[in-house]
Amino acid sequence: MSAPERRADRRRAAHRAPERALLAESRALQSQTVALRRALHRRPELGLELPVTQAAVLAALDDLPLQITTGRDASSVVAVLEGSRSGPSVLVRADMDALPLHEDSGLAYASETDGVMHACGHDLHTAMLTSSARLLSGRRDRLAGRVVFMFQPGEENAHGARTMIAEGLLDADGPAGTPCCAMALHVTSRLGSGTLQTRPDSIMASSDDLHVTVTGRGGHASAPHDALDPVPAAAAMVGALHTMITRRISAFDPAVLTISHIGAGTTTNVIPETAMLEGTVRTLSEQTRARVLSEIETVCSGVAAAYGCTCAVQIEGGYPVTVNDPEVAERLADVGRSVLGSRFVEPMPDPIMGSEDFSYVLGRVPGALAFLGACPPAIDPDDAPPNHSNRVVFDEDAMVAGVALYSGFVLDALRPG
Ligand SMILES: [Zn+2]
Ligand SMILES: [Zn+2]
Repeated sequence: MSAPERRADRRRAAHRAPERALLAESRALQSQTVALRRALHRRPELGLELPVTQAAVLAALDDLPLQITTGRDASSVVAVLEGSRSGPSVLVRADMDALPLHEDSGLAYASETDGVMHACGHDLHTAMLTSSARLLSGRRDRLAGRVVFMFQPGEENAHGARTMIAEGLLDADGPAGTPCCAMALHVTSRLGSGTLQTRPDSIMASSDDLHVTVTGRGGHASAPHDALDPVPAAAAMVGALHTMITRRISAFDPAVLTISHIGAGTTTNVIPETAMLEGTVRTLSEQTRARVLSEIETVCSGVAAAYGCTCAVQIEGGYPVTVNDPEVAERLADVGRSVLGSRFVEPMPDPIMGSEDFSYVLGRVPGALAFLGACPPAIDPDDAPPNHSNRVVFDEDAMVAGVALYSGFVLDALRPG
């Protein structure tokens, strides 16, 4: 750290001295945090219905002074903590669902459900937010407002946040009124343990899937002129779609289009009637997202027509772009510097082209998503199996930082005037 950085660090520490204590308080809760995390890790669940996970969260919150509601169409939990003084609401989120893959981590507490694994670290998020609810319950006198703890199922492609919003999570007459700001952490095995990274504006991409069926007319492979072969039309479409990204989309507002699945035909001497393409589209702005999706239609129908075929394009809408409010993101980084120290807060140079359904919350409420490093200390982050790998392992010590960050963000936002 440079001398000016050290001075700025000392100034912040003086200004927010009580936040320094959060790490110690969080560490005092670590055995509970770890116990819940391991229990969840052993019993991972998929999608919107997570009865075992929901029951574990409710049990962990049972003795705290919280108003709790559970979801109607999903196993969500919303817990509201009233501060001792009135003020706005602040929302903090943990996602709770796992992924459909077999675990090969070698951990003693590995998944006991074959084919399901907490490979994205959502078990850590859930345990961290539960401990933060405990920590903040002991500090109600320091809160001017309400805290909304959002425990959501179905982050992995099941739109769990959208379901919770539809059930009134963010409504003025919802569990705690419309929050003034929101925050979520996501652990990553590719960053040093306890390091926080965030950025202003777009931090994760939109994600939409595309399915194209090209229809021609089947025939004998020896007489293609008597048929309308959909195979060369589909092949031309792959090239044209990839080229479209560079010719129609600004290099300064990037997009990724990948055709990842292509299929046609049954044997060597038959021209099939149809061919299919599937792929995914990622963008960093809703404007570019709309442009790419409309250009896909134009390119596919134009290429199909050139080959005498027709095509049907189906877009399966995924998550919106995750857009951080610059002011909240900076405030979160500032809290990170106060709670963890400046050397544990890094700017995030580029967004990630993966997607997040916290984007639905950030579409309605100013807030920020941040990444929390959880690479085990014995492993080089660059070599660590990434999130979603069957071999991914997270450093549980990062949860001490996570609990302190969730809590520090809330204390900062609801600081009595
Ligand atoms: Zn994931
Ligand atoms: Zn995740």
